[in-house]
Amino acid sequence: MNVEIVVDATNVAKSYNDITALTDLSLRVTRGQRCVLLGPNGAGKSTLLNLVLGVLRLDQGSLKVFGKKTGHISVRRRTGAMLQISGIPSSLTVQEHLRLFRTYYENPLSTDKLVRTAKLEGLERRTFGSLSGGQQQRLNFALALCGNPMLLILDEPSTSHDVEARMALWDEIDQFMGTERTLMLATHNLEEAERLGDRILIFHEGRVIADASPEKLRSMIGTTEISAQTNVNVEVFKRNQHVKRIEHVDRHLKLYVTAAESAVSQLLQLDPDLKNLAVKPASLLDAYLHLLSPAGTDEHHRTNA
Ligand code: ADP
Repeated sequence: MNVEIVVDATNVAKSYNDITALTDLSLRVTRGQRCVLLGPNGAGKSTLLNLVLGVLRLDQGSLKVFGKKTGHISVRRRTGAMLQISGIPSSLTVQEHLRLFRTYYENPLSTDKLVRTAKLEGLERRTFGSLSGGQQQRLNFALALCGNPMLLILDEPSTSHDVEARMALWDEIDQFMGTERTLMLATHNLEEAERLGDRILIFHEGRVIADASPEKLRSMIGTTEISAQTNVNVEVFKRNQHVKRIEHVDRHLKLYVTAAESAVSQLLQLDPDLKNLAVKPASLLDAYLHLLSPAGTDEHHRTNA
């Protein structure tokens, strides 16, 4: 079966004068994938999204979207985007914005559906400028969906949302995506990444340093986190192949392991008087911090003891 390549980037580089934003980036995103871009501020995530949208021009390499050059009219018609800075006029009402945006597309979603999907009921006559930050983001989300896009690009879509609105937005994105649409979403929210992503790309200084499913990333550091207060000598754990990572700071020990039982019994034998023993699944946050730590990319055990 042929898998459609939606975004095809080869050796892409982009600088702003002397600031390098992306270096030698190669990436293929296929139809139906839900890619989440993670990484510290300035790592190059927004630059990649803007290149894919054709808002920015690349310096080197090649970048195709739906097999065409970025910015091509057929690409724009199949792509919807919600960027951090929308720049839409604040004096137009919600309804006017939706009407205007619908004219850009051949087969737009109905205004009713957009209002319902983005939970804008009751706000139709309000001007954009009079909306709260979260409401403005919901209108931006509706505008991103307007053309019924096959590629949806979202840059930190839930930053101004309260907890309930954020969870509602995740459900809306999830439902809209189905199985055939493709998502590229940049976020700092790891819960959002786990909820919406099936492929996580971690950016660091303009490069992708990890590209895997959330499960795979978690398993890189071990699937279970064991923590305790103890003065145990951690050297012995460095010889245990199930222990993927060790942190030991001020008696606070954390072991990331693939086999919890053997590490727990080893730990209890070494220090029967340890305190606050806890065992829980390793999170994407743990994996993320590990990958961005100095030892992250070379997979070495690390100890601060
Ligand atoms: P991220 O989205 O991961 O926070 P960006 O892609 O926004 O990262 O930025 C990557 C790098 O490019 C950063 O060093 C940032 O300061 C720089 N940069 C981004 N936009 C501009 C711009 N318009 N002019 C100059 N430098 C920029």
